[in-house]
Amino acid sequence: MIGGLQRTIEGFRKKFASKAAILMYHRVIDMDADPWSLCVSPQHFAEHLEILRKHAHPISLQQLVQVHKDGNIPDRAVAVTFDDGYADNLHNAKPLLEQYSVPATVFVANGALGQAREFWWNELERILLQPGTLPETLEVNIKHEPFCWVLGKDSDYSEDAYQSDCGWIVDLYEYPTSRHSLYFTLHQLLQPLPDAEVYQVMDELLAWSGKKTVPFSINRTLSKKELLLLKQGELIEIGAHTVSHPSLSMLSKNRQQDEIMQNKIVLEEYLGQQVNFFAYPYGKYSMQTRTIVQEAGFACACTIDKNCVWHGSDPYLLPRITMRDWGGENFLKQLNQILK
Ligand SMILES: [Zn+2]
Repeated sequence: MIGGLQRTIEGFRKKFASKAAILMYHRVIDMDADPWSLCVSPQHFAEHLEILRKHAHPISLQQLVQVHKDGNIPDRAVAVTFDDGYADNLHNAKPLLEQYSVPATVFVANGALGQAREFWWNELERILLQPGTLPETLEVNIKHEPFCWVLGKDSDYSEDAYQSDCGWIVDLYEYPTSRHSLYFTLHQLLQPLPDAEVYQVMDELLAWSGKKTVPFSINRTLSKKELLLLKQGELIEIGAHTVSHPSLSMLSKNRQQDEIMQNKIVLEEYLGQQVNFFAYPYGKYSMQTRTIVQEAGFACACTIDKNCVWHGSDPYLLPRITMRDWGGENFLKQLNQILK
């Protein structure tokens, strides 16, 4: 009898104490500059995977959703996810995931598939943060409001200055040049806008800078064919990430429904199978967004709220840990902190 009670208590303890983690990556690639810290080098990614194999219990997001539902999360369970749908997920990340046999879910914004144009934040970086000369003054309308910025002496940006600034990240909140503060300011202004308005501004910025769109840049997204190659095999699942990657909480209910449903329908048509998982672009959502995602028939949705997953987590607001270009030792430290 006492043994039975102990087992019950132990069962409850395990159910409530077990913690899992969902890791959020974007890109696996070596880059000189990475202002949003979205890139992990292939070398470091391999180190992360080796540590996951040795010190954690890598499972797919699908398995994680199931064990969470059953109240049976294995200790130190970890699910790997990628956001956006960059081509390097296929060319650099997939071979390493296969080598270490670690499953992953890639959340894809289908509007970017096979596009000749980079995501706007990559385009903005290329316009402002690459060496060269730009006009001294920028005048552009954003949300029907005039926006003016004087670059002054930073309109000229030398290769040497670029090399010394290319480790800059936005988290520092310090700007080596007025180009960097303009980059951050414009990013903050554009992020909440609908896709069409963002690209209208980007067109004006391109014309102002005298630069062109770059169809096959290092920042390119997956083509439709590459999406199918990425999915091939047992390890990688494709998830949804809206059509045009907007800040959903800024949109009307109808626009949110369109972005979420169209994304699901189109991806399912490409893949010939159900798409059950969703990630909120920029991690932005309202409770209305959450309800729309649930009603659209997804099994779960991921935020970028930093926390572990436990028995009490809302399956439509699953927290994730943002991955940085950490070496193995630092990665293990971060992982242990989350799962302690
Ligand atoms: Zn995203």
